[in-house]
Amino acid sequence: MSFSHLGLAAPLLEALAAKGYAEPTPIQRDAIPHVLEGRDLLGIAQTGTGKTAAFVLPSIQRLVASAKRPLPTHCRMLVLAPTRELASQIAESARGYGKFSRMVVATVFGGTSINKNRQDLSRGVDILVATPGRLIDLVEQGYANLAQTEILVLDEADQMLDLGFIHALKKIARMVPRKRQTLFFSATMPVAIRELSAQFINDPVTVSIKPAATTAERVEQHVTFVNQAEKQALLTLTLRAPGIERALVFTRTKHGADRVVKLLAGNGIASNAIHGNKSQPQRERALSLFKAGDVPILVATDIAARGIDVSGVSHVINFELPNVPEQYVHRIGRTARAGASGIAIAFCADDERPYLKDIEKLTRQKIEQRPLPADFMQQANAIKSTRVAAIGADPAPREDRQRQPARPRATHAPQATRGSAQGGPRTYANASRRGGGGSVGGGGRGRSGGGGGRSSAASR
Ligand code: AMP
Repeated sequence: MSFSHLGLAAPLLEALAAKGYAEPTPIQRDAIPHVLEGRDLLGIAQTGTGKTAAFVLPSIQRLVASAKRPLPTHCRMLVLAPTRELASQIAESARGYGKFSRMVVATVFGGTSINKNRQDLSRGVDILVATPGRLIDLVEQGYANLAQTEILVLDEADQMLDLGFIHALKKIARMVPRKRQTLFFSATMPVAIRELSAQFINDPVTVSIKPAATTAERVEQHVTFVNQAEKQALLTLTLRAPGIERALVFTRTKHGADRVVKLLAGNGIASNAIHGNKSQPQRERALSLFKAGDVPILVATDIAARGIDVSGVSHVINFELPNVPEQYVHRIGRTARAGASGIAIAFCADDERPYLKDIEKLTRQKIEQRPLPADFMQQANAIKSTRVAAIGADPAPREDRQRQPARPRATHAPQATRGSAQGGPRTYANASRRGGGGSVGGGGRGRSGGGGGRSSAASR
């Protein structure tokens, strides 16, 4: 099936051709005709399915058809997203898809200048992509007005709830007109999300794509059991192996991400960290170096990595396992984008075994175990001693001391349905050994019963 069968207008087909998309993804095929008809939509799908185009393309067509002009400070379409990265990416996509339809697109999110937001909104925009907190600030200060919103999109609603945006979302619901079209997307659909969706959507069409298991099936996955203290050495070996083009490494905490970057630098491997303590320019720089392949190793926390859309991520390495199994599926979905295949490697310490079990239960797969190389301890010691020489201290025992025991996991019913920017040389590319390759890490904190609150978001 081609895009033209979905009823999309010529300027949009032209934009799709410019992007080189040959045919719609399943969510685009199922959602676009309904959105074009003006129906509300409940989309159960995660990043990587092509859902952005599924809501942006038909919405642009409707905005063009209704031919209204935005009033100063108003927007005609409002897209709410949980993180700045996701908001930026949605806006970038909207600009691409709307390039022949003359759409004015703006983003507002925390960490950027509020004056710039004011300027961007002053003449009104067609499409506004926003994180909830900053948007409310702007509305309350009179710099944004939502009364002209024709289309409202909530993207990654489950993440917004996890980040404590529930009150903000309810507030925004009161600021937009009752008569509007609403498109509500979430990767998972627990009761809390279903209840939230009911407050926004009216007689929706439901489109459910890619239950958690499907991504997991497309990605080649391994797990290696390894002591926490040896993970850094295993990571170094893994990254030195040939075949790693672009690797996303997941840690549980911001501090953990910084430590991994530092220790890798000590082994001559350049990487960058991306997490909530980094400034917006730092995050953007790390992402663009990663995208360009200049520093092809990015160490991220779960929240910071949400919505990262980079094609060509060859490996996802779970340095620590997440204690919320859906998070694992989100993580490994960063590779295997839009139908490509990828490799996910997990490093599992003893206290993370229960998390592994939960993941296997959710994905309905047993993850293949890869033993450590026979001479792993020798190699690990060699790596540690070179690092000592490089950075003048032995970080491993310190790392071990600092590590907090993983918290017992809260009961969480799985949703079954569904180097620092030094830009050094890619030293691993020259190495010949494959380093075993386990993956998965994470442990630690999970969703705290749907609450979280902004303070917990800020800590990730
Ligand atoms: P999303 O789920 O919206 O984050 O999209 C995931 C990735 O798939 C993005 O890199 C899109 O540019 C890409 N994509 C979206 N639709 C298509 C399509 N029909 N064909 C090929 N790639 C697509």
